[in-house]
Amino acid sequence: MIYNEPNPLETKILTKRFGLANSAAIDTYLANDGYQAFLKASKMTPTQIIDEVKASALRGRGGAGFPTGMKWSFVPRTSPKPKYIIVNADESEPGTCKDRLLMENDPHSLIEGMLIGAFAVDSHKGYIYIRGEYRYQIDCMDRAIAEAYARGYLGKNIQGTGFDFDIYTHSGAGAYECGEETALLDSIEGKRGIPRLKPPFPAVSGAWQSPTLLNNVETFCAVPPIIRDGGAAFAALGTPKNGGTRLLCLSGHVNKPGVYEIPLGYNMLKCIDEFGGGMRGGKKLKAVVPGGSSCPLLKADECDIAMDYDTLAKAKSMLGSGGMVVLDEDTCMVKFALRIMRFYAHESCGWCIPCREGTTWLRKLLQRFHDGGGLKSDIPLIGELSQNMLGRTFCALGDAAAMPTISIVEKFRDEFEAHLDGKPCPYEHAGKFAMA
Ligand code: SF4
Repeated sequence: MIYNEPNPLETKILTKRFGLANSAAIDTYLANDGYQAFLKASKMTPTQIIDEVKASALRGRGGAGFPTGMKWSFVPRTSPKPKYIIVNADESEPGTCKDRLLMENDPHSLIEGMLIGAFAVDSHKGYIYIRGEYRYQIDCMDRAIAEAYARGYLGKNIQGTGFDFDIYTHSGAGAYECGEETALLDSIEGKRGIPRLKPPFPAVSGAWQSPTLLNNVETFCAVPPIIRDGGAAFAALGTPKNGGTRLLCLSGHVNKPGVYEIPLGYNMLKCIDEFGGGMRGGKKLKAVVPGGSSCPLLKADECDIAMDYDTLAKAKSMLGSGGMVVLDEDTCMVKFALRIMRFYAHESCGWCIPCREGTTWLRKLLQRFHDGGGLKSDIPLIGELSQNMLGRTFCALGDAAAMPTISIVEKFRDEFEAHLDGKPCPYEHAGKFAMA
């Protein structure tokens, strides 16, 4: 199992079983509070369960940060149609690598979170949509699901509660776009994964046009501790309206990259020092991507900030999916922008023009710039092209490509100017490390 050394400063709620011998096995889970929350929930009313999730101030950990309890309350429990529970395990955002660890190290917590959600909305069928490249994690989940059936935690009349629930894993085919919830739904139905027009939202009309509760892996894994210990206890770990802990995927130019569980509201600079072990090679901090490649970057002097949804939104960035990428003084920001844009141009599904053409032209412009062929007029053009994508695309991929680019052009214009007039990249020229 891949898991970095835990840090004693972590607040271990979702990761508390990580590192135990056979942590993924059902016996380990049962010996460490496993399935107690479901048994408790089975004696509660659906409204009580949803109220507890609302009280926890849990917000979706996939990126959007929508209040989870509110999302659950939108599912029409009394609908005569079947209701589905779907887990978004299509973890593909560059910089993000925490859902895989949850599935590898504690798969039963995901199953239990799904069970509680299913009980709350009266669903009897759930799917875990896992990105195709996560073959190992699909096997982990399949093993855990088989164990849960064998021990009566899935199937008919679960633990004598009279409640039935089945779970299936479903492999994606390697498209970043399928992490968008409606594209994921089309993909799970066997179609090409392109986003649907919203509304209707999946809670009302999701998989097979039926009510669907769709959350990220980490979101579902947070539900058992919320039900077991109470929503208020979870909420108290974080800041107002930003309850609990989250898994921080810390990467880039730090000494100890890894996945660490922190309470929401933790200071960003403290994260770099206390969990990341400081900047690699004693270099100076230049910028941070706070929550995955789609987030606007923060300059070093903006990084003394609390890491919660609302504070980062006020700083015109996002907590996103928890992928914090730290960049040191030797990083070429033009190359970094190019690296991000290559990814989005490759992953654009091509359905809407601003995204399909915008990402392609931005990639070409940034490549030319980095190669020394940039014009002064390209600098505002890169910003203008990005602004024209913002809010004008069918799904959030267009915004995801535009937002970091806009922030890089605005905050690091001097680096673009340093590449003008046929000059080679100053970072590569000086023999310094430049983000590839
Ligand atoms: Fe496809 Fe991009 Fe449009 Fe999303 S924004 S639907 S990825 S073309």
